[in-house]
Amino acid sequence: MNFRLPSRRTFPCPQCGHDLRGLSLDDACPKCGTAVMETFWLARAGKHRAHQATAFRLQRVWLRAIARSIGSTRSACEFVLDSTATVVRVPRGWFGKTPPLDAKAICAGMAELCRINFRDAVEAREILTHWGIRRSEDVAVILRALVDAGMARAEGVKDFDRDFAGLFVTERWLSQ
Ligand SMILES: [Zn+2]
Repeated sequence: MNFRLPSRRTFPCPQCGHDLRGLSLDDACPKCGTAVMETFWLARAGKHRAHQATAFRLQRVWLRAIARSIGSTRSACEFVLDSTATVVRVPRGWFGKTPPLDAKAICAGMAELCRINFRDAVEAREILTHWGIRRSEDVAVILRALVDAGMARAEGVKDFDRDFAGLFVTERWLSQ
């Protein structure tokens, strides 16, 4: 999948102001070299303030396309994407920096998001199952599609199938 910034609307580079409209997520700013992906993430995080709403709108469209391509749901894809942004424990030596995310850290982030978003473990299991996340292997499929599309990073994942194998089964997960 090759996602692009809209061509009808201006999307200035946060570093140099060059208009990035129509460029793909794999591209870099032709003037200063900042990755378009980086700009998209800054916008999404609200650090490129005027463009946060656009970033979220694009994200919804892109996630729907990704979900369709792997037979998943937009909600599941969004939850996995948000899980990669929810780092629970920052490893020693990484304070103030982004640690390389591995499968365990992503699943821990997902468990934390469940705690924040759902009433209890029963509700979390029900909703994740409804979205099609029945086990950690389903997370691997979604995450790989997100990474391939340039929407997420998972530098700490060496082998999607092996790293996510057997980490959790949703119907028995999150019990105290
Ligand atoms: Zn630039």
